[in-house]
Amino acid sequence: MRTPRSPRETRSPGLEPLAVLPVFVTLQGKRAVLAGANGGAAWKVKLLAAAGAEVDVYAREPTEEMRLAPAEAVAGRVTLHERDWSPADLEGAAFAIAAHEDEGECACFVAAARQAGAIVNAIDRPHLCDVSFGAIVNRSPLVVGISTEGAAPVFGQTVRARIEAMLPAGFKAWVAAARDWRAAVSARYHAFAERRAFWERFTNLAFAEPDRAPVQADLDALIAETDAGPRGGAVTLVGAGPGDAELLTLKALRALRGADVILYDDLVAPEILDYARREARTMLVGKTGHGPSCRQDDINALMVSLAKSGKQVVRLKSGDPLVFGRAGEEIDACRAAGIPVTVVPGVTAAQGAAASLGLSLTHRDAARRLQYVTGHDRRGALPDDLNWAALGDPSVTTVVYMPKRTLPALLDRAVAEGLGPDTPALAVFNATRADQAVVHGTATTLPERVAAAGLDGPAIVMVGDALGRGAQSAAADLERAAVSG
Ligand code: SAH
Repeated sequence: MRTPRSPRETRSPGLEPLAVLPVFVTLQGKRAVLAGANGGAAWKVKLLAAAGAEVDVYAREPTEEMRLAPAEAVAGRVTLHERDWSPADLEGAAFAIAAHEDEGECACFVAAARQAGAIVNAIDRPHLCDVSFGAIVNRSPLVVGISTEGAAPVFGQTVRARIEAMLPAGFKAWVAAARDWRAAVSARYHAFAERRAFWERFTNLAFAEPDRAPVQADLDALIAETDAGPRGGAVTLVGAGPGDAELLTLKALRALRGADVILYDDLVAPEILDYARREARTMLVGKTGHGPSCRQDDINALMVSLAKSGKQVVRLKSGDPLVFGRAGEEIDACRAAGIPVTVVPGVTAAQGAAASLGLSLTHRDAARRLQYVTGHDRRGALPDDLNWAALGDPSVTTVVYMPKRTLPALLDRAVAEGLGPDTPALAVFNATRADQAVVHGTATTLPERVAAAGLDGPAIVMVGDALGRGAQSAAADLERAAVSG
């Protein structure tokens, strides 16, 4: 008899050391000065002006690009003075940039600018800078700055491109509306909890409908909902996918962002929890194949009692929650307690594994049917009520979940029931994770090859003629790429 384990609260690590402190400088209507004319100068001038600064540029020999800057300013103002700077030019400057080719001249300007009380940057001379410029994602008033502290600018640019893709262009309008509505909302709701409830609803709506601009009717509806009182607790069963965080759905991300409490299984990859809100409680209600588990009844009771106390509970399960996840019992427990419950699907292990290997699970000639079976019954033994005729059917692709303990018996019997002994079979360990590993074989040879490989981690087994069709060479290529990459 295994001792059941109890749900255990887990904590995300606290603050870690910061290479730099990101701060955002307000330059609207303030004076900025740039002296010199090196290669990066014109762009910096345009940036300062875009942030609303009144920029004076002092350059004896400005570049052609710099000459165009006054006409190209999208906000603020740029004035070009075709002469060297003098200390009096720095009077009242909030921000100053040294852009000289010569180090000595830069240092001299930096000293004078600091004396005048300006925040100082020197292009390509980090040792002279108070502050540095990062890569920018602009959805003003929403602005994201990215720094690698000069360590890897190209890397920073790629991160920028990722964030660009993640933040719909329409967020610009939503954050602008938030700015315009802020005063009215604060005047209406004096209690912090109510204001927060309003802004949570607002944010959920923005994420749900990012591509349209919010209108007065949205404000009215959000106020009506907030006036109607707090949302009751609810449970969302969320599929975390097989491991790779990029396989999360946008709905899963939103549910994670909105959760007060997340109850998760051992099989959920740790990096998935990074997408939760920082303030969310996370609890491991571990259920692995063979180790001690929390009792399903305890998990159900915990989930229900948290939701009853008004919490938004996410029950985060590996893969798809409705595939071999005992989701039915959890859904029933919620319904019985009158708790609203919804499900967000995820990429199941079979789909993740097949995709990562570039293998089609069906084939017009080889597999017209696809079946997912479990290698385990309640006791961890081979289920005696498996449909053996179906497992022996040579025109099927079978995916076995939880195959480890019973694989030899399962494949033996399938072969005895008619499956070709040479049918391609493979075991995929840790599918879609950095340590994914594949063992190839046939219905006859796979069990001993898996035993010899001595691999660890969750695994599925896939068997069927479709797995040998055409795709094999592609799979081998992908695998090679995965090993060398
Ligand atoms: N709901 C999950 C399955 C849960 S049952 C899903 O849809 O994927 C647990 C079993 O899933 C494991 O024993 C293993 O067979 C399989 N599994 C889960 N994650 C896996 C992964 N990353 N790689 C291989 N198999 C995995």
